[in-house]
Amino acid sequence: MPPGRCTTRYSPPMHELSVCQSLISQVETLARERHAKAVRSIRVAMGPLAGVDPGLLERAYPLACAGTIAEAAELVIVHLPLRVHCDRCGLESDAVPDRLICGGCGDWHTRLVSGDEMLLTGVELVVETEPDSPAHRTAGDERRMQPD
Ligand SMILES: [Zn+2]
Repeated sequence: MPPGRCTTRYSPPMHELSVCQSLISQVETLARERHAKAVRSIRVAMGPLAGVDPGLLERAYPLACAGTIAEAAELVIVHLPLRVHCDRCGLESDAVPDRLICGGCGDWHTRLVSGDEMLLTGVELVVETEPDSPAHRTAGDERRMQPD
C-alpha cells in the first residue's frame, strides 16, 4: 500500500518542464552534431498563444538543463506578436489573446497568422576550433515545436 501523504516541495508545472526538456534534447542533438563542448545560449521565440508561460518556462529551465551539455547556457525568450488576418477586409493586424479581432474593421472573422508558435531560433555553441578562429558559432536553424 502506498503511503497516503504527498510532498509539498515546490516543483514547476509538468507542462513547462516537459516543454523545456524537449527543447534541451533538441539542443543536445544539435550540440552533438556540431561537436560542441558546451552551449552558451539558447534562443526561443514564442507567441502569446503558444500555451507556454514564459515565466514558468524560465523556472523549469534550470531543472531541465541540469547535468546536460546546456547546463551553463543562458535562456533567451523572444516574444512574438499575435497577428490575425481578417476574412472580411483582408487586413493583417496585431491582436491581443482574448480579442482576436481585425485592427482595421473590427470584425471577429479572423484567422491567426502568428502567435501560437514556439520556435527554437538559435543556439550558441562552444566548439573546439583552431586557436585563431572564433570560439563559438551560432546555429540559426529554426525548429518548430508543438506546444502539445
Ligand atoms: Zn477587417
